[in-house]
Amino acid sequence: MIQLFLPLNFLGFVYREIRRALTDLENMLGLLTTKPRITDKENAQPLAIQQGNIEFNNVNFSYHSSRAILKQLSFTINAGSKVAVVGASGAGKSTLARVLYRFYDIDSGSICIDGQDVRDITLHSLRQAIAIVPQDTVLFNTSIRENIAYGRPGASDEEIDKAIKMAHLTKFINSLEKGDQTLVGERGLKVSGGEKQRIAIARAILKKSPILIFDEATSALDSHAEQAILNAMREVAANHTSLVIAHRLSTITDADKILVMQAGQLVEQGNHQQLLALQGEYARMWQLQQMQSNNC
Ligand code: ADP
Ligand code: MG
Repeated sequence: MIQLFLPLNFLGFVYREIRRALTDLENMLGLLTTKPRITDKENAQPLAIQQGNIEFNNVNFSYHSSRAILKQLSFTINAGSKVAVVGASGAGKSTLARVLYRFYDIDSGSICIDGQDVRDITLHSLRQAIAIVPQDTVLFNTSIRENIAYGRPGASDEEIDKAIKMAHLTKFINSLEKGDQTLVGERGLKVSGGEKQRIAIARAILKKSPILIFDEATSALDSHAEQAILNAMREVAANHTSLVIAHRLSTITDADKILVMQAGQLVEQGNHQQLLALQGEYARMWQLQQMQSNNC
């Protein structure tokens, strides 16, 4: 009897020790994490999307309380329109997209889609409604086709083929011995930044969300490939509400509205012609980029 008791007693001791260590770890992580986890509210309702109208009202956000990243941001993206966000690196453009997708909750103000606060609706429905082509796309260690299909589980073969075509991936895929069955990701074929972005675009096309976000989606492409993708993006964005974060201003001159950000603030907004006429920050950025492209 005592022979059986001792090991059990010892196991109990080990169990208690492990549990205490875990609690310590949790407490420590709790101290390090300043932001609460993003979860559904108790009475969260699915987003009832009507047209895809987006509104930011006095939005303030910081990753760490010591440094404000988005400051009093207010703007509207009309349903079905194309809005571009421009500004220097670090201005807060990607952060703006992240808070809309609710990767983070804002500190004050509100973000509404068709009049519904993103914090009041289910995360699932919010993320179904928005497709993001991020700045840095992560590829899974699986085939190109599966990487695209991930955009919408359950999509048909025809839909996947169409997305591949619209994202101008056909030529690249045909150049591979195993075609769209080629393994990519860390343990597979190394694909270029541009190819990665096109895979991300195909994913977003497949998702068929009413709201599209392109975060510098063509920044890794040469200008010929960029034009092809821009045409594809225009095709996809027609009849959608789209938010295009752009580095090269020449890619967004056709936007219905351009938001100019500087150090987390919205400093100008208008269409290309209006902003040039303003002779402010946008006009300065435009002139700078024109000069650079002439020199190359
Ligand atoms: P942009 O897309 O305009 O280049 P970002 O929105 O990525 O700018 O970043 C805005 C600011 O927030 C930058 O100063 C950046 O260093 C900071 N930042 C971005 N992501 C994080 C993060 N996860 N944690 C802390 N600071 C961040
Ligand atoms: Mg960015």
